[in-house]
Amino acid sequence: MLIKQLRLSGFKSFVEPSTLRIEPGLTGVVGPNGCGKSNLLEAIRWVMGENSPKSMRSGGMEDVIFAGTASRPPRDFAEVVLSAEDGDGDELEVVRRIERGAGSAYRVNGKDVRAKDVALTFADAATGAHSPALVSQGKIAQVIAAKPVERRMMLEEAAGIAGLHVRRRDAESK
Ligand code: ATP
Ligand code: MG
Repeated sequence: MLIKQLRLSGFKSFVEPSTLRIEPGLTGVVGPNGCGKSNLLEAIRWVMGENSPKSMRSGGMEDVIFAGTASRPPRDFAEVVLSAEDGDGDELEVVRRIERGAGSAYRVNGKDVRAKDVALTFADAATGAHSPALVSQGKIAQVIAAKPVERRMMLEEAAGIAGLHVRRRDAESK
């Protein structure tokens, strides 16, 4: 899967709608401390279904919504749109939106879907919110210190078989 574009609105420090085009090859994001570099990586994880506030460096899931500054009021929602090309060359557009008090909603190619469908879409493409391809600050040290079972989970994500666990749990509960 190739991520081609990221659009953020009201997400963390990206209060105004911002578009980041990702061209083939290596993309570098540079800027002073606190300018939002890590927030961009978190936006990719978040639209892929990340639901752990800790990995979003927040207390609760609504904390990803722009909280306001001395001169700007807070926003009521955050939205991230990820445009990608899947392994077959087909366009994929995934939208996640969270509204205060209303939780998250997802859309894939314009259709309302469940969080689980988004997770499966990315898991089958051997990527996703926990993909080892997304290396956040402090991650290298975490891999070194990981327990064997945690390391196995990283390998399963990389191998593209993580989606099988969700489907097995699903099948067993029927
Ligand atoms: P460093 O170089 O130090 O790693 P960085 O470029 O990775 O910095 P980030 O951690 O992505 O920076 O951005 C942090 C900024 O995002 C802080 O200024 C913080 O106040 C802001 N921020 C995070 N969440 C929100 C939010 N919900 N509303 C408004 N601003 C937020
Ligand atoms: Mg950072």
